[in-house]
Amino acid sequence: MAQNRKKTGTRLTGRIVFPGNPSYNVARMEFNRRFSKFPRVIVFCRRTQDVINAVKWARERGVRLRVRSGRHSYEGFSAVNGGIIIDVSEMNKVKVDRKNMVAIVQTGNPLARVYKKLWNKRVTLPAGTAPDVGVAGLTMGGGIGLLSRKYGLTCDNLKQVKMIVASGRFGARTIVANRRKHSDLLWASRGGGGGNFGVAIAYTFRVRPISMVSIYSVNWKWGDLEKVLPAWQRWAPSVTNRLTSTIEVTAKQVGTIVSTGQLLGGAEELRQLIRPLLRAGTPVKVMVKTVPFIEATKFFAESDLNLEPKFKITGAYGFKPLPREGVRIIRDFLSKAPNRYSSVWSQSIGGAGSAVSRVSPTATAYPHRKAETIYELSARWRNNGDQQRNIQWVRRFRRALRTFVNGDYVNFPDLQIKNWPTAYYGVNFGRLKQVKRKYDPHNVFRFAQSIPVGKKVRKNSTHTRFKLK
Ligand SMILES: Cc1cc2nc3c(=O)[nH]c(=O)nc-3n(C[C@H](O)[C@H](O)[C@H](O)COP(=O)(O)OP(=O)(O)OC[C@H]3O[C@@H](n4cnc5c(N)ncnc54)[C@H](O)[C@@H]3O)c2cc1C
Repeated sequence: MAQNRKKTGTRLTGRIVFPGNPSYNVARMEFNRRFSKFPRVIVFCRRTQDVINAVKWARERGVRLRVRSGRHSYEGFSAVNGGIIIDVSEMNKVKVDRKNMVAIVQTGNPLARVYKKLWNKRVTLPAGTAPDVGVAGLTMGGGIGLLSRKYGLTCDNLKQVKMIVASGRFGARTIVANRRKHSDLLWASRGGGGGNFGVAIAYTFRVRPISMVSIYSVNWKWGDLEKVLPAWQRWAPSVTNRLTSTIEVTAKQVGTIVSTGQLLGGAEELRQLIRPLLRAGTPVKVMVKTVPFIEATKFFAESDLNLEPKFKITGAYGFKPLPREGVRIIRDFLSKAPNRYSSVWSQSIGGAGSAVSRVSPTATAYPHRKAETIYELSARWRNNGDQQRNIQWVRRFRRALRTFVNGDYVNFPDLQIKNWPTAYYGVNFGRLKQVKRKYDPHNVFRFAQSIPVGKKVRKNSTHTRFKLK
């Protein structure tokens, strides 16, 4: 049967790149160069039918598939050896309906393009900082950024998703999930993580009016770590929800501490608000200014420049400020970092009046609602010879901090976390498995840490079931 279908079956459409094509090497590349995978074919879809054809083509032939948008997966989940990559990055229209304050955003858009298109109508969406991160993966995992405390996660503003899901034994079909229809799929798309249920092709978001914002940046020397980090951790979740802020401490070799933030308000108010922070240690540089929102997105994008091509990052949540012992661990690890490109970064997401914390942990698939802060522990390098040392450093660092932090953000995935279902999904994992069983019973959409189908997989599935590690 499968053989017959192979001869007469579905043909790929869209921009198709096979090995040997001059653009193959660029087309297969992930943002994290730690991964170098060799797919059998990459399809750059331009229309819904291209996506449907690609899913059918893969199913008819029993070829593994991966879905891709911005290519920013930390663990290379959007690439595959010997399979097909279904890439939506050329589906990148944005349509704003300012009257109803909604925008339809095709999932191939990188964040910078979304911000720009929305800014043209003086509206925006709370989303991330890096300009080339795909709105597709970002939204499905949650979506945190400098408007989170006021307007929630990106996924909290998702009203509808249009998705191509597997159907029957070899087919694919389009589903529109919103509050009325397929509400379970909408629930799962709000924090359940990309690549699990189907290919999202368009999101409908609630958007917010925006014009001017105020931003700050404060620098300290490394010696102030023990004063500045606890002060920021107490202060950042306690200020008005119109202010979301970050702090980054680099390896001792570089020796900088930088806090940045954005206020929906004026520069004078921001100067007042950051006073408690300025009293910690001895700030060496302070900047506060009011700028058009689109300029602020560029300012924060600059801080996200990736200095080295390969990286290992793990994430975690803070539910209260780190005790002295936790700060000491950070100081010790950054003192012995594998190179100058290692760092600890944290952002405020919860606390006083935060829109993230106001949502119940089970209302969407994103469960970490009560966290005050989120962390990233990062190592970056260029040469393969340095890889193991860097990965081990991140692993040991995570382990050393584990008494003080909890869980991980599915958009900061880490293959070394054994109990990843609990770490990413907490109480929501059981319900996510039910949604998976309903919309992808053959486990067509799977990767190393995808949501498993569980027991009720159909016997004649053309795909094997993924076992929990
Ligand atoms: C430099 C950098 C900065 C970042 N900054 C932020 C930030 O500010 N805030 C934040 O919250 N996160 C941030 N992230 C994390 C980011 O949210 C995740 O890496 C996200 O998964 C990236 O999505 P993508 O579409 O770019 O990646 P991809 O690698 O293309 O996809 C990521 C996952 O989503 C799946 N996927 C992709 N497209 C689709 C689709 N159309 N339908 C269904 N599944 C799909 C993939 O299969 C994969 O599993 C950052 C990451 C990097 C590398």
